[in-house]
Amino acid sequence: MRRPVLAANWKMNNGPTAARAFIAAFTARWTPHDDRTVIFFPPAVALTTVVHALGGRRDLDVGVQNIWTEDKGAFTGENSAPMSKDAGARYALVGHSERRHVFGETEAQTAQKCAAAVRGGIIPILCVGELLAQREAGTTNDIVLRQLEVGLSELSPDAIASMAIAYEPVWAIGTGKTATPSDASTVHGAIRSALDKRLGKSSGDVPILYGGSVNAGNAKSLLSTPGIDGLLVGGASLDVEGWAAICDT
Ligand code: PEP
Repeated sequence: MRRPVLAANWKMNNGPTAARAFIAAFTARWTPHDDRTVIFFPPAVALTTVVHALGGRRDLDVGVQNIWTEDKGAFTGENSAPMSKDAGARYALVGHSERRHVFGETEAQTAQKCAAAVRGGIIPILCVGELLAQREAGTTNDIVLRQLEVGLSELSPDAIASMAIAYEPVWAIGTGKTATPSDASTVHGAIRSALDKRLGKSSGDVPILYGGSVNAGNAKSLLSTPGIDGLLVGGASLDVEGWAAICDT
């Protein structure tokens, strides 16, 4: 059985000083659980701080929020997969809705970034999700499955079998609106079928996370929804107690 994955996307919050204090408070509050995976995605400047603050705790992991498509070179402001791995990251978010819709990341770039992550020894978590207008137009599955197909297009079946997917409806991110368990379940089911088809066998080891205004109050019902294998949490992961409560779910 897949272990539930609880992932904290801090976005552009918690520089090194705040990150150190957060991890100190969280590790004091949260006792190790070996039946779930907890991952922190701090801003890149706080990555090594978080790695050191975790002090080698094996139940807590670290990832980067974004990587560039190339391994090194003249790409001012960017971080590569090998550099992120060297700094202690095990995972990389790829195609988060803010990368796609605020920074104009293209679907082709999400494919290149997934490939760069795997090449650099990092596990990609490919984020997919529809805009409100797309949901209202009834095209949610078309959009999400296309993002999935393109994002995975440069990966081998083995690489896909070792990664994770996050379904994050764009209209639910940071808005306080959450997809209903039934809506989320439908999309997760469609993603699961597409993964099975792409692999030609069960994609059972690939967790499919839900993200979008998750908090301590709705985490339990989302996690008990069929097809939801974990949560990707933004705003509610910035509060130690709230995040610990979600991780306890
Ligand atoms: C996110 O950033 O991936 C996210 C889901 O944000 P929030 O939980 O704040 O909606």
